[in-house]
Amino acid sequence: MGTVTLDDLRKEFDNGQIVAVDDLSLDVTDGEFITVVGPSGCGKSTTLRMLAGLEQPTEGRIAIDGEDVTEIHARSRDVAMVFQNYALYPHKTVQQNMAFGLRMSTDLSKEERDELVYETAEMMGIEELLDDRPNELSGGQKQRVALGRAIVREPDVFLFDEPLSNLDAKLRTSMRTEIQRLQNDLATTSIYVTHDQEEAMTMGDRIVILNDGELQQVGKPKEVYQNP
Ligand code: ADP
Ligand code: ADP
Repeated sequence: MGTVTLDDLRKEFDNGQIVAVDDLSLDVTDGEFITVVGPSGCGKSTTLRMLAGLEQPTEGRIAIDGEDVTEIHARSRDVAMVFQNYALYPHKTVQQNMAFGLRMSTDLSKEERDELVYETAEMMGIEELLDDRPNELSGGQKQRVALGRAIVREPDVFLFDEPLSNLDAKLRTSMRTEIQRLQNDLATTSIYVTHDQEEAMTMGDRIVILNDGELQQVGKPKEVYQNP
């Protein structure tokens, strides 16, 4: 399960001089793929970071499956985030990078963890890379590892922060398809931030358009772009 509810979520910086997110309310249903789009500075990243527990809201409430997680630490939330810059540990191998989140968040034995990592690596086509370190990988391979690291934890909710922006156009297109395939197979709720309207359109079941911290529109791609 992975319903997500944002209730009048607000984030201010610099003692209220900057309102990054302005009373945002949103219901995301279980298994939905929702894209969040808008220009640079409109509050996409801050919203996602609050969902991940990396940033505390100034006001409002976040619930996952009806449970209030607003005050719950990032580590204890059942979410996994994929970052634009991959955020891989440079000195750890692919295997260690993928296993790390598992060690932090589950009670599995080492053998069980290794098996889960291997299965996930196979699913992502990176099982040959398990002993490599991030600096030996291409951008696309790093992003696959970052995805694998998120998937291996089997979270209720995936959070994507512009995961494809650092890839070239061709790779971006194929990774889009791959993320959609994973989303279909895993049926995990996904909240996907991008500044690319086309990406938001093609990937989202629904699109949220943010402007200056405020929710401007939300709906299916067709609805949203018919009444701009
Ligand atoms: P986006 O992801 O859509 O580009 P952000 O969420 O990063 O937007 O930023 C929203 C607004 O909040 C911007 O005006 C940004 O400058 C500001 N902001 C973000 N993080 C901080 C911070 N740590 N301190 C001060 N202002 C911030
Ligand atoms: P904290 O260390 O504050 O308790 P986290 O460990 O969840 O919180 O995340 C802090 C920062 O570390 C995040 O902003 C992220 O960029 C980075 N980070 C989180 N997980 C990983 C990881 N597995 N590998 C590399 N960097 C990570």
